[in-house]
Amino acid sequence: MKLYIAPLGTVDERVLARICEVIEEQVGVECATMSPLENPRYAYDERRCQYDCKAVLERIKKKCPEDALGILGVTHVDLFLPVLKYVFGMSEVGGKCAAISLYRLRPEFNEEGPDEEKLLKRVEKTALHEIGHILGVTHCRDPRCVMRASTTVEHTDAKEPRFCPSCKELVRWELRLRSLEGKRPSVPRK
Ligand SMILES: [Zn+2]
Ligand SMILES: [Zn+2]
Repeated sequence: MKLYIAPLGTVDERVLARICEVIEEQVGVECATMSPLENPRYAYDERRCQYDCKAVLERIKKKCPEDALGILGVTHVDLFLPVLKYVFGMSEVGGKCAAISLYRLRPEFNEEGPDEEKLLKRVEKTALHEIGHILGVTHCRDPRCVMRASTTVEHTDAKEPRFCPSCKELVRWELRLRSLEGKRPSVPRK
């Protein structure tokens, strides 16, 4: 079982490499970077000047190889959900697709100086969080666990790029189930 990382348009190699690294290390599944998919212009909402995350998920889901554990889209555009001002990422809980946005994770966006390492740390936590959702793990109350919900970058900065022991156990359990049976029904979750 492999997880596919799909840049939506051009995304820095170092960002993609870091995502693969953290997932391979923390989830223990092989990651492969796909050649870039289209920029999500199809998801642009003129009223909000942002991009509809659900439209992005629907599109990338179609690109997910049959035998894959899942696909994670990575984009520079600002993603939203109808009920939320923005999202750092979103996934189909227990499903196969997820997407993350670098837009609001960039230190420059948050009036901090450019800092690549800070960006990479936020990206790896956001990616791991969404992969956790793909594997059916819901939000965790442990403030350092990567599955803690993040609505600001401060929340993201406070987390560790790893699962707490309970979430880790759920990940292992789900991986075991998936290797035994086929995929299960899923619902979207931010
Ligand atoms: Zn946890
Ligand atoms: Zn979440």
